[in-house]
Amino acid sequence: MNPYFNDTHDMARQTARRWVSQAILPHISDWEEAETFPRELYQQAGELGLLGIGHPEALGGQGEHDVFLKIAVSEELMRSTSGGLVASLGSLDIGLPPVWRMGSPALQQRVVPPVLRGEKIMALAITEPGGGSDVANLRTRAVRDGDHYVVNGAKTFITSGVRADHYTVAVRTGEPGFAGVSLLLIDKDTPGFSVGRQLKKMGWWASDTAELFFDQCRVPVGHLIGPENSGFLTIMMNFQAERLSLAVMAYMTAQLALEASLDYAKTRETFGKQLSKHQVIRHKLAEMATQVDVCREYTWRCAARMAAGQNALKEVSMAKNFATETADRVTTEAVQILGGMGYMRESVVERLYRDNRILSIGGGTHEIMNEIIAKQLAL
Ligand SMILES: Cc1cc2nc3c(=O)[nH]c(=O)nc-3n(C[C@H](O)[C@H](O)[C@H](O)COP(=O)(O)OP(=O)(O)OC[C@H]3O[C@@H](n4cnc5c(N)ncnc54)[C@H](O)[C@@H]3O)c2cc1C
Repeated sequence: MNPYFNDTHDMARQTARRWVSQAILPHISDWEEAETFPRELYQQAGELGLLGIGHPEALGGQGEHDVFLKIAVSEELMRSTSGGLVASLGSLDIGLPPVWRMGSPALQQRVVPPVLRGEKIMALAITEPGGGSDVANLRTRAVRDGDHYVVNGAKTFITSGVRADHYTVAVRTGEPGFAGVSLLLIDKDTPGFSVGRQLKKMGWWASDTAELFFDQCRVPVGHLIGPENSGFLTIMMNFQAERLSLAVMAYMTAQLALEASLDYAKTRETFGKQLSKHQVIRHKLAEMATQVDVCREYTWRCAARMAAGQNALKEVSMAKNFATETADRVTTEAVQILGGMGYMRESVVERLYRDNRILSIGGGTHEIMNEIIAKQLAL
């Protein structure tokens, strides 16, 4: 009955659901505590065709245009209850599109198929120690020297930063501001490139997040992604899909917190009756359910605009802000409804509450989304 999803989407959803319940859920708490997950998961996801969703068929993907196929699978991956696992497994979705949109055919052929098969890992490196919101003023510099660019600078907070094999890196090749930004594909074994420590985080424990350093790092000119100084537009195009998937992660986080709260409220007894029979708790649950439904429907509506090729710059920013705020509220209430158990590591809402906090920061902060919305309102 859902107008957005068809049989193909449902089949992919079933595949992802089976994989999550058999291969991930039994181990996820251990992996979260260990702050990692087995690298084989990339290959398993590749073999199931899950990594190729959202990427061109010519390079081994399932096609880049079916937005709802991506959403169906992302919703199921979030049922792993680990935003960190989903973020790391999905770092190819932000790292690869610049390569297949703007990279040379040779670069595309070398990099994209192995990443979609799960044999190699891909990351996107834009944020720098000096700032992430003001992308146009990034400082990592690449200077042309014969057949190479010589790169100097640093990146931070990079998802899959430790484990990645390839990095799509934003660098300054030209004048100050957005018109001097380019993208370079940098391989892990490039001389002058090094990875810092795995950063300790509030949430997303299963994902590795790292600093990257470039010290006289020599990158072949063939690794330039798109024309020199045209990187900013490519980065902005990338952000649209990333923000949509962060909205999906947020409403799924809220959905899972709601489900855990409903289960608990129906079984826990206080003052001689089920928790769910106390009006305050019933109304909390009713409001949580309303908020989750509304933000999921709005996100789908926004995705439909994107699928139809319409401009959704304002809507996707709204969807991200609304969904992440909703999930912050719903996960907070979920911890409250579970009482002391909600504060325990063994309860899923404890992780959902922590994991959600990043979603209104990464991929453009809440404040930056509001700036975009304000501009679209001609303010
Ligand atoms: C777990 C994690 C994973 C990440 N993964 C990646 C990744 O894979 N690749 C990558 O490139 N980056 C990644 N990031 C970085 C993330 O995108 C940035 O943290 C984010 O863009 C914000 O940048 P910043 O942290 O430098 O904050 P800043 O830009 O310094 O902003 C600080 C605060 O000021 C606010 N602010 C800034 N400018 C304005 C303004 N004009 N008006 C009002 N308020 C403003 C911001 O909203 C924020 O609240 C990750 C971050 C984390 C924590």
